[in-house]
Amino acid sequence: LYLDHPLGAGQSVPLTRDQAHYLFGVMRRGQGDLIEVFDGQNGAWSARIDEAGKRGGSLKCLEQVAEQRDPPDLWLLFAPIKKTRTDFIVEKAAELGAARICPVQTEFTNSERIRQDRLQAHAVEAAEQCGGTFVPEVADIARLRAVLDGWDPARRLMFCDERMVGAASSLAAETPGAWAILIGPEGGFSEAERTRLHGMDAARPVSLGPRILRADTAAVAALTLWQAALGD
Ligand code: SAM
Repeated sequence: LYLDHPLGAGQSVPLTRDQAHYLFGVMRRGQGDLIEVFDGQNGAWSARIDEAGKRGGSLKCLEQVAEQRDPPDLWLLFAPIKKTRTDFIVEKAAELGAARICPVQTEFTNSERIRQDRLQAHAVEAAEQCGGTFVPEVADIARLRAVLDGWDPARRLMFCDERMVGAASSLAAETPGAWAILIGPEGGFSEAERTRLHGMDAARPVSLGPRILRADTAAVAALTLWQAALGD
C-alpha cells in the first residue's frame, strides 16, 4: 500500500477512508494483519494493522523489508489517446519503471484534455501492484513544441518513429542515464514535428519493428525495449 506519509520503525500512520476501504473492504484485511507499505522515499516496510474501521484506521510500521529503489531516470512522453487506453499507457509505464509520465499535445493529438489526478491515481495503483518502492509522477499535459523548446540535451530522447526501419538496434550502442521515450498520437507526427525531432542532437530515432503499432502497444514495446537495452 502506498502511504503519502513518511515511514520509519515504530511509526504509527493513520489510514484515510479510501485506504481503509481498499484494505478492509477490497483486500479483506483486518486488525492485527501484517501488510507491506511504501512512501516512495524510504523503501518498503512491514506494518501491522492496529485499527480497522469503515471510516479509517491506523498502521504501525515494524521493519524495513526492502531498500528504497529509485527509478531509472526514464520519462515517457506520449500523446493522449482514448481515455481507457491512456489509463493503460500510464499503468504500464508505472509497471515498466518510468519515473515521470508526460502527456504531450502534438499537432495531431485528438484528446487534448486529461484528468491528471485520475492518471496519478492509476500510477499509484500500478506501483502498489508491482511491488515498487516509488510512484512515478504524472505531469499535466503540455504542448510537445514547448517541451522540445526547453529540452535539456543531456536527456536522450528515444523517438519512436514507424518510418525508421531496423533502427531498434541503435540502442545497443547507448549507455544508461537520463532518457525519455516519445510516442506519437494515433494520427502520427506531423512533418514539421518529424523534421524537428530528427534534427535534435538528443534524439535517437528508433523503430519498433516493421508493423505500425497502436500508440498504447508502441508505448509498452518501447518501454520494454528500453528496459532490456538500458534498464537497471
Ligand atoms: N503515423 C501512423 C499512421 O498514420 O499510420 C500511425 C501512428 S502510430 C498509431 C502511433 C505512434 O506509435 C507513432 O507516432 C509512433 O510513435 C509509434 N509507433 C507505432 N508503430 C511504430 C513502429 N513500428 N516503430 C516505431 N514507432 C512506432
